[in-house]
Amino acid sequence: MPKKIYIVEDEKDIADIVRHYLKNAGYAVENFDDGENALRRIRVSAPDMLLLDLMLPGMDGLELCRLLRSEPQTKKLPIIMLTAKGEETDKIVGLEMGADDYITKPFSPKELVARVKALFRRNEPDVDKVKKVQYGKLLLDTEAHAVLLNQKEVILTAKEFALLEYLMLRKGRLVSRDNILDAVWGMDYYGGNRTIDVHIRHLREKIPLLKSALTTIKSFGYKLKEEK
Ligand code: CA
Repeated sequence: MPKKIYIVEDEKDIADIVRHYLKNAGYAVENFDDGENALRRIRVSAPDMLLLDLMLPGMDGLELCRLLRSEPQTKKLPIIMLTAKGEETDKIVGLEMGADDYITKPFSPKELVARVKALFRRNEPDVDKVKKVQYGKLLLDTEAHAVLLNQKEVILTAKEFALLEYLMLRKGRLVSRDNILDAVWGMDYYGGNRTIDVHIRHLREKIPLLKSALTTIKSFGYKLKEEK
């Protein structure tokens, strides 16, 4: 499977040339000319790396980067920021917002490909990453993006998975709805608390042990009890 890279860049000439070089280097590439479309696509199917232009129509690169970093599934998504000359301050802000690297326009496509390869290499043996989280008979495998209950796979949506991961990593702790919203849906999500409740209900239906293990703390949030 070739690694998948998304390019978010509104300047078509640059987007096309970057795409061409990355494809030649063996990557699968998708282009987006604005942040909103890219975000929608990433939430459905996250790439292995994101090349993100800073100045975009609508949601800019910084905002998109910040959002992606606030969501568990894309918290560690490798991001290279593309900045124009004279955007030095933004470049620094970009790194503070969590971009892994940046490259200044105009850049040579070869250099960009080299940076992409370097960043993939840097991220490969990620030993610190939590890969498997166990809760009684429930096993969540973040790497395989799978949940097993009594060794049988439970099919979850991306949001259900992220929500379950968030709760499992915080077992024994009270978690507020606001924190869940921020972490799983992103800061600017506007759907309100009902969305969480619906997802919790689905999780309890799909994973019966949560009916007793996951308690609702009225008008605050939830708590996944310690296993007995
Ligand atoms: Ca631009």
